[in-house]
Amino acid sequence: MTWRTKPHGKRSAPCGSRPRSDPQGALRLPWGLNFHEIADMELLEMRWPQVAALSKDTPVVFPIAALEQHGHHMPLFTDSLLCGEIIRRAKEKLADRVLFAPLQWLGNSHHHLDFAGTMSASPRVYLDLIADMAENFIFHGFRRIVFVNGHGGNTLPAQQSLFEVRQKVRERDDLLLLSSTYWSLGTDPRTKMPSLHQTQMGHACEYETSMMLRIASHLVGDYKNAAPVEFGKAFAPASRAWITKDRTVPGHIGYPHLATAEKGETLFQVFSADVVALLERVLAWDGKEWDA
Ligand SMILES: [Zn+2]
Repeated sequence: MTWRTKPHGKRSAPCGSRPRSDPQGALRLPWGLNFHEIADMELLEMRWPQVAALSKDTPVVFPIAALEQHGHHMPLFTDSLLCGEIIRRAKEKLADRVLFAPLQWLGNSHHHLDFAGTMSASPRVYLDLIADMAENFIFHGFRRIVFVNGHGGNTLPAQQSLFEVRQKVRERDDLLLLSSTYWSLGTDPRTKMPSLHQTQMGHACEYETSMMLRIASHLVGDYKNAAPVEFGKAFAPASRAWITKDRTVPGHIGYPHLATAEKGETLFQVFSADVVALLERVLAWDGKEWDA
């Protein structure tokens, strides 16, 4: 459990003001637990009255990832482990102001199904699944929904799911529905670590292998002898449809042999700082502005 009581001082409600939808500022719960004693908002540990008592301007984060092949040298749960670590670091800064749902590990990974062990919800099923997750919390009254994604195959379905949710609740003018992928939130990690060779996220690559070496090196196999697999251009700037075996025989894409745990720590710092910065913007949103 991460519930802690604060021995001293008062906490302010999330977003720093009385929730707009909670009558009489009803933050005191009926059986003795004061809202102001709640330290970390981990959805899976909370009781429903505690969720009901939160400001409905509290951002709700849904981490979404995958269970899919990651080459000969990395575990199937790579995306979920790495996204989980990004979220763990973000929670250290934000868990008293942001509500975190548990990580949704089943992703849209049909393009990897030719490799054993991969599990996947097909694109339409996945899109509907995560749209329901968002709609559940809109139904509970929350207004700020954020997907934090850790798997490339989820990016388009996540954007489409929130696009469809937005059309369904078109009478609302107070919702913020955001889809984000942790490695593409702005900061180029090479500005912090010039020794990084890759210019983009690959698959079981220099980036992912480095991060896994940082948090669970015992799960990493022989990455040093994994031959580079080039990204290619694939008719850019057009977007070519692909399945993974179109691009790679071993399963990875990129340069895993260049991975180090030191690079992994830098990548975690850069990516988690970008996630925290995004969520700070969500917290600071005034509830109306288009650009924030
Ligand atoms: Zn991955």
